[in-house]
Amino acid sequence: MQKGNIGVTTENIFPVIKKFLYSDHDIFIREIVSNAVDATQKLKTLAGKGDFKGELGELKVTVSIDKEAGTITVSDRGIGMTAEEIDKYINQIAFSGANDFLDKYKEDANAIIGHFGLGFYSSFMVSNRVDIITKSYQEGAVAQKWSCDGSPEFTLEETTKEDRGTDIVMHIDDDCKEFLEKDKMMGLLSKYCHFLPIPVVFGKKTEWKEGKQVETEEDNVINDTEPLWTKKPADLKDEDYKEFYRKLYPMSDEPLFWIHLNVDYPFNLTGILYFPRIKNNLDLQRNKIQLYCNQVFVTDQLEGTTEPDGTVKTAGIVPQFLTLLHGVIDSPDIPLNVSRSYLQSDQNVKKISGYITKKVSDRLKALFNEDRKGFEEKWDNLKLFINYGMLSEEDFYDKAKAYALLKDVDGKYYTFDEYQTLIKDNQTNKEGQLVYLYAQDPESQYTYIQAAKDKGYNVLLMNGQLDTPLISMLERKLEKTTFTRVDADVIDRLIQKEETKRDVLEAERSDRLSTIFNSQMPRTDKLEFHVEAQALGEDALPVMLTQSEYMRRMKEMSRLQPGMNFYGEMPDMMTLVLNTDAPLIKSVLEDSEKETSEQLRPIEAEIKGLTARQSVLRQEQGKKKAEEITQEEKDDLKKCGDDIQAERDKKNEILSAYGKQSERVHQLIDLALLQNGMLRGEALTKFVKRSVEFIK
Ligand code: ADP
Repeated sequence: MQKGNIGVTTENIFPVIKKFLYSDHDIFIREIVSNAVDATQKLKTLAGKGDFKGELGELKVTVSIDKEAGTITVSDRGIGMTAEEIDKYINQIAFSGANDFLDKYKEDANAIIGHFGLGFYSSFMVSNRVDIITKSYQEGAVAQKWSCDGSPEFTLEETTKEDRGTDIVMHIDDDCKEFLEKDKMMGLLSKYCHFLPIPVVFGKKTEWKEGKQVETEEDNVINDTEPLWTKKPADLKDEDYKEFYRKLYPMSDEPLFWIHLNVDYPFNLTGILYFPRIKNNLDLQRNKIQLYCNQVFVTDQLEGTTEPDGTVKTAGIVPQFLTLLHGVIDSPDIPLNVSRSYLQSDQNVKKISGYITKKVSDRLKALFNEDRKGFEEKWDNLKLFINYGMLSEEDFYDKAKAYALLKDVDGKYYTFDEYQTLIKDNQTNKEGQLVYLYAQDPESQYTYIQAAKDKGYNVLLMNGQLDTPLISMLERKLEKTTFTRVDADVIDRLIQKEETKRDVLEAERSDRLSTIFNSQMPRTDKLEFHVEAQALGEDALPVMLTQSEYMRRMKEMSRLQPGMNFYGEMPDMMTLVLNTDAPLIKSVLEDSEKETSEQLRPIEAEIKGLTARQSVLRQEQGKKKAEEITQEEKDDLKKCGDDIQAERDKKNEILSAYGKQSERVHQLIDLALLQNGMLRGEALTKFVKRSVEFIK
């Protein structure tokens, strides 16, 4: 028997492996099984070249659990190892600068394993002893048994083994007993070994017999050795792609379409990307792409992972918006075993990312060009994805602007260019700005949409999750363009053309109207009303609510962007617009004048007198230098001002009292609220009762 020390320059690698690699224990099975697969493929290659003339037999890798012995064994019938090879490949894991590296990447098992070629040693994450029983394929080879208990000492001795190949026997640690559970192992195998190119057998197939599951004679092969992405696109039918998708994501709806990736220069990459039906939730859809390296599963965290300190590491193999896609990417050229932060700066990774973006965009463009109708039908499902792409990747915007669509409230679709042409003549305001009108909720904004349509305007539907930022982006990208929600102002002012000349109410009367209505508006912390009297023409409604585009949009953006909370906390601000041309409003005004004139007359006279006096005082004092004005004179002027205010307050009180008892004022306010879906609860009940009274 030979004894020796494993060639590690640092005193002992095993505690390090155990201590640092806790987070990714699972991957030991990937490492050991893929070593077995490699050894098997090497033998196949040798046989193919005629360098191995023996019987290949059934080539498979077997994973078995012996619960009693507490072992997991991975066996292959590959090339095996001679004593020299064990010494060379297993014993000499010399490396330098180990401590530094381990310190830097202590959270990242992949990095450590990749960096040192520690694939095999990852078995020590879960084992207190590992045996290698192996017999080389070479003629006359003697079987060897290597054993190591987690210290740097190993033993190596001759043994007997009938068949060529290798058994890796892992004596599982007490604190890792869960790996001895069949279900656990099955889960790991289907995650990491699902598409390995050599059959991986785990136990026997079972079948139902007399009401229970019984084992059959047949091997339970857990993998698909020829996954779809390794085949030629020309040999595949749509149904094959759909079936593969169902296998990958049993719970998902059918994909919209897919792209079969197949490049071998300047890097090697195969894969299939599926466009899922993304309805509404951006976040739920991520991390569905699986990354493989020669059919070995590496990660499905393409989106990036959040480290314990909160920093997010992104793999960077696909741009962020593409992480919404589903499917698989397989590339031997991605330095998979290297830490993820390292990935970002890798040139191959950058090229791959650019390539995939281009492929995706080309596919969308082709779809748009070849079948516009089909593309439109898919748009609602594609929209979130494309908008996200345009918002997050400048390059993608430049490509996608040719086929990205806008949808109007009648369900018609337009490209950006088409839409511009459509509205140019009728929706350009007097400043030469093109005004895009949109609705977010066609139901509650129905009246406003209708008013816009009556003017011959087109109204877009912008009810998607990313439409608010998209609007801001389009305003930046498209020249002389503003977006305005249909209820942002009264129709005449939504798109201001030449000044419309209408009889404007004198300030005094318009103030009176505003005061009456203002006093009766509902008051809450979350909502502030402002009342404005305007001449909107006899045909327009007597009252309506508008909400300033700017404030509303700021608030919407603040919900999406942290750091804009300031806006989020502000109350909503709405304007109640009274149409002074409407007969109803005119009659409220006249009635209020009739009802309150007697009470108001002395007050108004008083205000008039006080105002006159105030201006005289101001004039007199204006002639003097500041130091010449006596305290008495100053007090006089101040008192005059206070008196005017007091009289005004009295006047407001009278007008409020009028508003309070006026059923018509309340009915009009409620109608405006109702039109915006804002009349609820008690207010709604009151409105209904009042309406019933009116009808009687
Ligand atoms: P890597 O696989 O990255 O080279 P490993 O530590 O996993 O690193 O394995 C080291 C070497 O040990 C392999 O390159 C291979 O030569 C040999 N080896 C490991 N497992 C087997 C096996 N099952 N059969 C034959 N050789 C093996």
